[in-house]
Amino acid sequence: MTDQETAADDCLFCRIIRREIPADVVLEDEHTLAFRDISPQAPVHVLVIPKVHHPDAAALAAAAPEALVALVEAVGAVADQEGLWEGYRTVFNTGARAHQTVFHAHAHVLGGRDMAWPPG
Ligand code: C5P
Repeated sequence: MTDQETAADDCLFCRIIRREIPADVVLEDEHTLAFRDISPQAPVHVLVIPKVHHPDAAALAAAAPEALVALVEAVGAVADQEGLWEGYRTVFNTGARAHQTVFHAHAHVLGGRDMAWPPG
């Protein structure tokens, strides 16, 4: 078993993909799964994750660029589906100091309210 497969075994988001942990899924395709964040920080807060396990977006880009493109396309599809035509924010927290808590690449899609800048 490779390191990546070992990590994926215990990974929370891999377990959501395998339906071992419930999630409120809003969109799924061959490459991605999108589900509502369990602790929403905006009226719309959806996580978009690749079905392959990589610890962050840069690692995903290096190992499977087509999966990163599919993820960004899914972000747009989620925004359309959720009616976020006035704008939305896409966040990739990367590393513990940036508040990444789940080390499986994911995009936060936040919308339905005005967003502050700079971010906290
Ligand atoms: O960027 P970060 O790693 O902190 O994001 C992980 C996100 O996963 C959190 O916003 C958390 O609320 C969410 N989460 C979830 N469902 C779970 C566990 C965590 O939506 N079962």
